[in-house]
Amino acid sequence: ARKKLHKLKKTPAVSLDGIEVSLLANIELPEDAHAAMESGASGVGLFRSEFLFMGRTGVETQLPSEEEQFLAYRQAVQTMKGKPVTIRTLDVGADKPLDHNDHNILNPALGLRAIRYCLKEPQIFLTQLRAILRASAFGSVHILIPMIAHAFEIDQSLAMIQQAKDELRAEGIAFDDAVPVGAMIEIPAAALSLPMFVKRLDFLSIGTNDLIQYTLAIDRADHEVAHLYNDTHPAILQLLDMTVSAANKANIPVAICGGMAGDIKLTRLLIAMGFRELSMPSALLPEIKQEILNSNIAQLEPIAKKILRTYDPRLVQEMLRGMQGQQF
Ligand code: PEP
Ligand code: MG
Repeated sequence: ARKKLHKLKKTPAVSLDGIEVSLLANIELPEDAHAAMESGASGVGLFRSEFLFMGRTGVETQLPSEEEQFLAYRQAVQTMKGKPVTIRTLDVGADKPLDHNDHNILNPALGLRAIRYCLKEPQIFLTQLRAILRASAFGSVHILIPMIAHAFEIDQSLAMIQQAKDELRAEGIAFDDAVPVGAMIEIPAAALSLPMFVKRLDFLSIGTNDLIQYTLAIDRADHEVAHLYNDTHPAILQLLDMTVSAANKANIPVAICGGMAGDIKLTRLLIAMGFRELSMPSALLPEIKQEILNSNIAQLEPIAKKILRTYDPRLVQEMLRGMQGQQF
């Protein structure tokens, strides 16, 4: 079994009809990159950088310096040995509070979080961008911006990245000038205004955890409404379909990095909808790869189309089960 798993690690995730799907890992700390490599991931699709900022105590109560961040990002990049590492800029607030910023907000999920926080605290944002750019000189780095809903947020973020580059250049510090910049699609308004995104950005990544929270208006951390957290609600499937279609049309990559990407019950549906990049916890990667190796995407496509046209949750579940049980 070990030998089989080892062989699987080196095998690319190619469907029975010859379509390759890129399987990437989600990490929270730089040392998690080892598990990503071990799982056979073709890169890091989501480095949740906020974990460097959270839960700091004692001498570490200050936010991490540019140097500390640079070393952390470089460590992940070097561990991945040239494979792409998508570093998401600080996504604090709501379920991921920054201790020193933790006051009583009525609706933290709708409050000053992620890119909203970074644009209000440009010094913190700029420090992080400089650290990420410096790490980009050591491998393949992508910058991913969370919680974007407005065109001006994209424009201001791009301007901040430009400023960080200008500073580094003036200081003679190396970075990759062509580092791709993408946005998380995790607010329904973003999925409903994709032309605004594809025009300005190099790639998209769908955060299904927040997309479901905001679309279905259920707090993702509230157990009382956990039973309403339905990832195959027709509204969610429509938003995913709109996003993959718009990205394909604009010819830019689109990934899913939320929990749906690592759910084997959904793998066949997602690849049949056209997704070619899935980012998930490393531990889930082998079984998702096995599922892709056993799938014929062309034969699954008509069922995915049918699922997208069906607004009957029971029928959706039935077709999903049928899809999962299908042998080729
Ligand atoms: C998401 O929202 O799906 C996501 C990937 O980001 P996080 O879970 O860190 O909010
Ligand atoms: Mg999110």
